[in-house]
Amino acid sequence: MDFQAVLDEIVATLEPELGAGTVASYIPALARVSPRQLGIALRTRAGEEFCAGDAATRFSIQSISKLFSLTLAMRHVGDDLWQRIGREPSGNPFNSLVQLESEQGKPRNPFINAGAIAVADRLVTHCANARADVLTLLSGLCGEAVGFDEEVAASEAATGFRNVALANFMKSFGKIDNDVAAVLDLYFHQCSAAMSCVQLARATGYLCRDGAHPLGGAEVVSERQARRLNALMLTCGTYDAAGEFAFRIGMPCKSGVGGGIVAVVPDTLSLCVWSPGLDETGNSLLGMKALELFVARTGLSVF
Ligand code: GLU
Repeated sequence: MDFQAVLDEIVATLEPELGAGTVASYIPALARVSPRQLGIALRTRAGEEFCAGDAATRFSIQSISKLFSLTLAMRHVGDDLWQRIGREPSGNPFNSLVQLESEQGKPRNPFINAGAIAVADRLVTHCANARADVLTLLSGLCGEAVGFDEEVAASEAATGFRNVALANFMKSFGKIDNDVAAVLDLYFHQCSAAMSCVQLARATGYLCRDGAHPLGGAEVVSERQARRLNALMLTCGTYDAAGEFAFRIGMPCKSGVGGGIVAVVPDTLSLCVWSPGLDETGNSLLGMKALELFVARTGLSVF
């Protein structure tokens, strides 16, 4: 298949719509990103790479980081992880406190904020330096140095009142072991990591390779863990729109409020789209359209 032609066509088709949607505005560093950008990159299981548009521009990966922190936690903690975190779609906003009360501080899944904060707590327990381990994982997976955006991390910390509430609420149920400040420091930093579509398409390669490292390094996760990560992305990876994503796109996806979406066709390819304008569900508006066009042009999806 001529993937380059497909990606070029997607970017050309969506050009007239550049600027659509609403850029996340809860912190200045995100609010000032121009919405008139669209990038798309793809990497096949065999390692061929294709990209179009603003695919080399780094953006704030935000909630896409939850995929990588979960990957690290699965490696370190194994199945015990699921004693602390569920794996059902929440049906509530990503930062909701409501369910946590009736479910005694056990988050529904690792991709809502409460779940990702619980994952961060596990990492603080199991890693000597969890922040460094996240960067080592990301850099190793894409073969290029990845860093945190300290301005973003500091703004997240200064405005993350709801995340502070979630962490303390879980701590009150005995579901967070470490100091809340240390756990949130990791969570806010992982959200601030800056990566491009090309880097993310490469970094998620293990999800279409049964857990094998995209660049030939040591196995990232087992085949079973890779399958489970894909299952969680499909059911919980796109805020409250996972049903709509499955219906319209049919690939495991993980999105972030920075406007990025990573997507996987198991055994075939991984891809990343980015456009900062979000729809009312918090997912990239043009990113979702780009994925829809990709599926329509290629026929590739899990269904
Ligand atoms: N960092 C933000 C938060 O925790 C949002 C992350 C996202 O949903 O992409 O509230």
